[in-house]
Amino acid sequence: MSLAEIHQDLLYFLLGFSAITFISSFFFTTPYGRHKEKKSLVEFPPLSGWILLESPCLFAAALTFYFSGGNNTALVPLIFICIWQTHYFYRSFLFPILVVNKNSKRVGLSGIAFGIVFNSLNGFLNGYAFAHAEHLTDPSWLTSPFFIVGIALMVIGVSINIQSDRILKNLRGPGDTGYKIPRGGLYRYISVPNYFGEIIEWTGLAIAACTPASLAFLLFTIANLFPRALARHKWYQEKFEDYPKERKAIIPFVL
Ligand code: NDP
Repeated sequence: MSLAEIHQDLLYFLLGFSAITFISSFFFTTPYGRHKEKKSLVEFPPLSGWILLESPCLFAAALTFYFSGGNNTALVPLIFICIWQTHYFYRSFLFPILVVNKNSKRVGLSGIAFGIVFNSLNGFLNGYAFAHAEHLTDPSWLTSPFFIVGIALMVIGVSINIQSDRILKNLRGPGDTGYKIPRGGLYRYISVPNYFGEIIEWTGLAIAACTPASLAFLLFTIANLFPRALARHKWYQEKFEDYPKERKAIIPFVL
């Protein structure tokens, strides 16, 4: 079986898995953070847990991009792999230091195992796609409306995501492990602007790169975060009597 065929099969797998994730998430909220009710047998401290589960994406994308052949010395694929690696360097190493702290919830072994498998798969799919997409060999792609609009959306999404996560981080003082009502930024309008920003960011990548892998990752992100956002919104409304009535779950003024 060639690498191209493996890539194709894993892409279908990710699409099927996204559909299962979306449907099951309405009945069952992935048990991490506040939704983790039972203590796991084996647990990792939040900082090392995040690094362990997110960093495989960084390594899988780099290895696949450089060793799978294709057009990995062309300008546009190189730009995309740099964008991808910058995000995953932030998510794997800076996010745990800047946002997650020792007061955050510990991460269970099942969460780590799932994260390692999913992130390795996602890194492989997107690293391979950047190196092998024919349309990305043409440098004029950088001036196409797809690239310009997509990158603009990515910048907006990343800014919303980072700002929202920073607001969460500042809610807790030293030794504080409880939850408070987040305020400011897009929290004026929705309960989970960090997820909203994440979805805009990957919508941007799907438009900018126009690869099936970036679209599959966007669909997975929506399937994963959308039901979680609704569960989070309900959780806030039940926990805090004074939770702002006008605040929506994930789409400002709509839902
Ligand atoms: P959360 O919003 O659940 O938590 C982020 C951090 O803030 C945690 O340390 C959490 O503590 C703390 N926190 C959250 N709410 C409060 C509050 N009300 N009061 C005090 N502290 C709070 O984010 P996730 O962990 O789900 O996600 C982290 C990042 O990863 C986000 O930027 C998200 O967009 C991204 N992500 C992307 C996914 C994708 O599919 N692309 C999937 C999942 C996440 P504690 O741990 O104690 O709950």
